Amino acid sequence: MIYVRPKKSLGQHFLHDKQIAERIVQSVVADTKLLLEIGAGTGVLTEFLLEKDVDFKAVEIDRESVAFLRKTFPYIKNKIIEGDFLKLNVHDIFDKPFSIIGNLPYNISSQIFFKILDEKNHIPEVVCMIQKEVAERIAEKPGSKTYGILSVLIQAFYDVEYLFTVHENAFTPPPKVKSAVIRLTRNSVQHLDCNETLFKRTVKATFNQRRKTIKNSLKLITGDKLIPENRFLSLRPERLSVSDFVELTNFVESLL
Ligand code: SAH
Repeated sequence: MIYVRPKKSLGQHFLHDKQIAERIVQSVVADTKLLLEIGAGTGVLTEFLLEKDVDFKAVEIDRESVAFLRKTFPYIKNKIIEGDFLKLNVHDIFDKPFSIIGNLPYNISSQIFFKILDEKNHIPEVVCMIQKEVAERIAEKPGSKTYGILSVLIQAFYDVEYLFTVHENAFTPPPKVKSAVIRLTRNSVQHLDCNETLFKRTVKATFNQRRKTIKNSLKLITGDKLIPENRFLSLRPERLSVSDFVELTNFVESLL
């Protein structure tokens, strides 16, 4: 049997629990018949994708894993793309909307979500395993200490469900952290009622100094301009919902 040596730098923790793998694949419920798997590794999810009535492609950066996948599943050779998801032009792969599945490399999960957000109108659903803390943060509602940049930016365009927790012993080698599977389902929001670039800047500027009040952090964007009274100014960013941030963004824009 060929063996893939797990590489820490690529976030390789191979899931060996097949029941969990099957459960993850079954958690894809959108009726898109196209799927992209990110980080197929040794193919534990890929194997169950083969049984599903979908057309899929799997992208994997690790040459050794790609060789393993092509040997193990010779009949789907052409579905396996050797490459970096972060650099991939997804429109070269699919010309229709597609769902995403994957046990993500935890070290780049935020970057993966930012890329998904850039392509949100082509990605109706995402089912993925990530670090448990990150999953909780993404699913968190305003008011909590862990509610942050990713929670707001993702919840603006996706409904988030925390599906289940996965113990570290389900992997080889076991990661140092617990894992969790989440599902993101695209909501009906096409555009936010504000400048979306400024929205991102506002969310990032305020959470990057999350212990400061909104008023203090806004100075990073508005410079020396006098900031008139506003109901959000004395709050910390974790109190604000997505629609509050939209309102705040319009306020910031009026100052620029
Ligand atoms: N799906 C497999 C592997 C999960 S580990 C399983 O469940 O066992 C994460 C996988 O993502 C690894 O195989 C790693 O090589 C791959 N990976 C890491 N960075 C990547 C990137 N930028 N693009 C695509 N795949 C990547």
